[in-house]
Amino acid sequence: MKRVLLLATGGTIATQKTAQGLVPQLTSQQLLSCIPEIESLCHVDTLQLFNLDSTNLSPAHWIAIAQAIREHYAQYDSFVISHGTDTMAYTAAALSYLIQGGTKPIVLTGAQQSIGNRETDARRNLYDAFLYAVSNCAWGVTIVFNGQVILGTRARKMRSKSYNAFASIGYPEIALIRDQKVFSILPKPALSPEPVFSLSLNPNLFVLKLIPGIRADIFRLLQPAYDAIILEGFGVGGVPYYANQDFAQAVGQWVATGKPLIMTTQVTYEGSDMSIYQVGHIIKEKYGIVEAYDMTLEAVVTKTMWLLGQGLDQNGFRDRFYQPIQHDILRPE
Ligand code: ASP
Repeated sequence: MKRVLLLATGGTIATQKTAQGLVPQLTSQQLLSCIPEIESLCHVDTLQLFNLDSTNLSPAHWIAIAQAIREHYAQYDSFVISHGTDTMAYTAAALSYLIQGGTKPIVLTGAQQSIGNRETDARRNLYDAFLYAVSNCAWGVTIVFNGQVILGTRARKMRSKSYNAFASIGYPEIALIRDQKVFSILPKPALSPEPVFSLSLNPNLFVLKLIPGIRADIFRLLQPAYDAIILEGFGVGGVPYYANQDFAQAVGQWVATGKPLIMTTQVTYEGSDMSIYQVGHIIKEKYGIVEAYDMTLEAVVTKTMWLLGQGLDQNGFRDRFYQPIQHDILRPE
């Protein structure tokens, strides 16, 4: 029988009602006791890492999760993480960079309703997460939710209330779970037997969402305080060329400081292509800014934190950013 470690972190799945609204309070043991069938799938141990609404999680918590997995890596065949849904896609993407390779699956799951509710998606999701974690086709860092198995680098929360809360963006789901059976869609790739853990992140970045009429002085205000900007543009990507061109110049001044600037898009599907329009083409050619193509924002944010943590220069940052990790980026040759 396979050995699985359940790492509990909180989230709606573990909530109880309080006078101030829902608060995660159920323990990992209590979660497990709601689904006795899991005992027939595998041997489970549990670890309560924290018990938080995922709104309250930060990069330090991602590192704590990765550290716990590193400490217990030898003793278990796979890892299931119960987690709030709101920032689960960030944690899943972060773990994809912090723990690379290795043959042992790391599966995140959660629910839109507490496991204690009469109507809940929690039982299915938690059971499915274990089912996938012990299946022979399981690999990588994934989110299992509502019968979908989504790569951690491709997941995004798309619905705030419905059970089909997550989507796989720009890449197929790697498996489906129907009637308590796992159907593999993308076969397991060749994986290095030993994972590489790199447990440092620099979270000092700012995501700047373009709005029509945005002023250029924002770059000057951010410059002393942040080490990188992720610019969430419109459509396939570009920046405004107002009559005085001050916005594009401010982009150039930011890049001249040596700090990375990564262009991504506000549009969920199909990604950026800055070569298409003049508003994208000019700044990309002139300043050599990094383009995120079809990556999710969650993957862009966490990959940037991970690379910033490595103290690379701008060219080194760009080269590493474009190297695909767990299918996070597809870009033209
Ligand atoms: N606010 C909750 C959380 O992210 C939502 C959920 O788990 O569904 O922890």
